[in-house]
Amino acid sequence: MHALIDRLIRPEIRALRAYHVPPAAGLIKLDAMENPYAWPEALREDWLEALRDAAMHRYPDPRGGALQPALREAMGIPADMGLLLGNGSDELIQMLALAVAAPRAGERPKVLSVEPSFVMYRMIALFAGLDHVGVPLQPQDFSLDAERLLTTIEQEQPALVFLAYPNNPTGNLFDPDLIERVIEASPGLVIVDEAYAPFTDASFIPRLGHWPNLLVMRTVSKMGLAGLRLGYLAGPPAWLEQFDKVRLPYNINVLTQASAAFALRRRDVLDQQTQAIRSQRAALLASMGSIAGIHCYPSDANFILFRTAPGQAGAVFDGLLHRGVLIKNLDGAHPMLSDCLRVTVGTPDENAAFLEALSESLSSTQ
Ligand code: PMP
Repeated sequence: MHALIDRLIRPEIRALRAYHVPPAAGLIKLDAMENPYAWPEALREDWLEALRDAAMHRYPDPRGGALQPALREAMGIPADMGLLLGNGSDELIQMLALAVAAPRAGERPKVLSVEPSFVMYRMIALFAGLDHVGVPLQPQDFSLDAERLLTTIEQEQPALVFLAYPNNPTGNLFDPDLIERVIEASPGLVIVDEAYAPFTDASFIPRLGHWPNLLVMRTVSKMGLAGLRLGYLAGPPAWLEQFDKVRLPYNINVLTQASAAFALRRRDVLDQQTQAIRSQRAALLASMGSIAGIHCYPSDANFILFRTAPGQAGAVFDGLLHRGVLIKNLDGAHPMLSDCLRVTVGTPDENAAFLEALSESLSSTQ
């Protein structure tokens, strides 16, 4: 069997390890940029009531037609722009990659993203047989290296450019004027990934339509609906019609469609939660800023990237885990992230527990 696996499975897939999600049972879970607030009991009752009518015996509406107007309204998507739904924005990245994947004139199309950034841009390029080009951010503040980025776009002619705005795992917003220059200089599509939109006022949605090659991608995951798996891509309808052809039929299930439509009707609850996370982020940053032995980076997202003294990130991560707090260890994920850890903003109680565990872990590792 192993010989057959070696023969049939592409070497680059064999070399991978499957996406790993660490077990979190019994831990304070601050590793995955989730909204820490569950729905209030009364809202759960209304939600269950709303699901009562879901037609479980039927396939779902293939394009989530009933959900689309609510999403458009909630996110302020211009009427002349198209909308494509994905099973999480991960699936949308995959659709984009699949649609451009065939080699032309012996050359594989390229996907460009900055680094460090969201790893799925590179992973999905690899899955789809595309070449990935990574352009380093400026190491001191993770801003765009404009000259290097524009030169690489000119040289590599990428079919797709992904820019996370704010960026994961660094938390910063890139200079919007530079993003505009990237859009103008790109021979292919530029996808501005606004997964963390609930935690910032900046957005490229009002600029949709200004350039024929700009698409904006969002997700409901970070606003408090990570369990639903729903992402959406907005942009010129002519592009979205093409990507719709590689969408698997019925990719958004009946329960997700009904639950998302319900949640958008009761968006006030999600908005209050994201507002609370925004103010908790400021409080957490201020508290972390006064802890000796770490350096924190500013954040426009619902997480904070911080750096320990050289060689200490692993011990601090383990110290937190030992005290019941799970965050993300990014040391080794990219050379620019050495000694870096990332914590998701939690409830005030979770943040307090994290801060205490962090102080203790730091003092026992120094
Ligand atoms: N884009 C960015 C920048 C992300 O950080 C993430 C999730 N970590 C995603 C997209 C994927 O989101 P979804 O849950 O919609 O697949």
